[in-house]
Amino acid sequence: MKKTLYLKFILAYILFAIFGFIVVATFVSGMTLDHCKKKEADDLYREATLIANTYATELYNSEVSLESVHNQLKAVGTYLNSDVMILNPSGRVVCDSRTEPDPSKEIYVEGFSPSVTGSSYYTIGNFFGQYESQRLSVLAPIAGGYRIKGYVCINYPYASIQAEATSLLNISYLELIVLFVLSLIILIFFTQIVYIPLRRITTATEQYAAGNMHYQFGVESSDEMGYLASTLSYMAAEIARQEDDQKKFVANVSHDFRSPLTSIKGFLEAMIDGTIPPEMHEKYLNIVLNETTRLTKLTNGLLTLNNLNTSGMLLHKTEFDINQTVRQVSASFEQTCRKRRVAIELVLGGEELYVNADADRIQQVLYNLVDNAIKFSHNDSVVRIETTEKRSKVFVSVKDSGIGIPKQDQNQIWERFYKTDLSRGKDKSGTGLGLSIVREIIRAHGENINLISTEGIGSEFIFSLPRSEKNDELE
Ligand code: ADP
Repeated sequence: MKKTLYLKFILAYILFAIFGFIVVATFVSGMTLDHCKKKEADDLYREATLIANTYATELYNSEVSLESVHNQLKAVGTYLNSDVMILNPSGRVVCDSRTEPDPSKEIYVEGFSPSVTGSSYYTIGNFFGQYESQRLSVLAPIAGGYRIKGYVCINYPYASIQAEATSLLNISYLELIVLFVLSLIILIFFTQIVYIPLRRITTATEQYAAGNMHYQFGVESSDEMGYLASTLSYMAAEIARQEDDQKKFVANVSHDFRSPLTSIKGFLEAMIDGTIPPEMHEKYLNIVLNETTRLTKLTNGLLTLNNLNTSGMLLHKTEFDINQTVRQVSASFEQTCRKRRVAIELVLGGEELYVNADADRIQQVLYNLVDNAIKFSHNDSVVRIETTEKRSKVFVSVKDSGIGIPKQDQNQIWERFYKTDLSRGKDKSGTGLGLSIVREIIRAHGENINLISTEGIGSEFIFSLPRSEKNDELE
């Protein structure tokens, strides 16, 4: 592809040159010859008419001598590089610039006919056999009374016209050559602006296709080529990033599955071979149960995330009371709260607050956030859930006064499997998938979720939802 594009361009350039020369050699050459012929004929006819109206008329009126008219014709003939003749309508030569006048001799132009010029005023030929080579001949009538007394005839060598046309044509060829040389600039521009960048881009795509996604290349131009190059390298960087994410993801999944499986296997083997005595079985079976619960949770989380990603998140939006959802979710944590002596404080905007969203998914969001808030709270503390409406939005906040999230982790907690070092001691059952699910759901709704957190003081997660117009009807 690389070579052919350039070859095609050069081929087009050569074709352009060939056609250029063909056009000049045929049309332009014909046009130049026609132009020279017509111009010369015009000039000669004007001259012939002038002679017909002056010396020739005077000669026929016997006002001047044949001798002096001959001298004039000779001078004009020399000046015009032509032969000038005065002929009677019958073809008899009255005066000829080529020969001295001799009244005793009667010389005729055999077969002379003034209609030889046809509808034009000039003709090309050997002028009734007078010449061996071709002449351009013009005829101007000499009028006297109401009849034509004779003709002034000027014969100009046709070869001179052809020579003039050829020299003019040579100028055209020269111009054409200059034009071709100048148009080489286009070729240089094409090479610099299109061909070289395109080659770089092609090399880059080959590298990317071969899997070298970190291949770097530069096309420093702000035109479409530059845009194409930067889009391509952006695309490659994105693919590289996704590949890295994918690898990280697989590594995390394997790790998170392997550790509970190893402990389950270890405990079960110990029970079977008697290392753990039967009276201790219940304790270790409970640990095994916890581990399987964690594995189930992990699998469910992964499945949810996968569904969210692949189905482009099909939301079943309805108008529902978010306050009611908050109440239900907090009720489901009653047992856990009691154990940890954590109180849930609800600060709800009104009795009912309708939003337009997917109820089940939002319940899952709230569940994950409240679960985290309780998990990372200290005993004897309060988790506050607040709903407020502002213009067309409803804001839901889940706030705890627990361990908080260090600043450097605040961007990463949304990533799959990410857990802060701070939280590891407090929570062993976490999968690190909860917040990824939360973020995907909120994003699918076209809404935002924000975090305000200070290490050691607590965290607040606030997300927005579209407010339903049903609230206005209730008021
Ligand atoms: P997990 O299942 O581990 O809770 P999440 O995705 O829900 O997974 O949370 C990711 C990590 O973010 C947690 O492991 C924890 O380190 C941190 N985190 C989330 N919520 C809180 C919170 N309310 N307070 C402190 N840390 C939190």
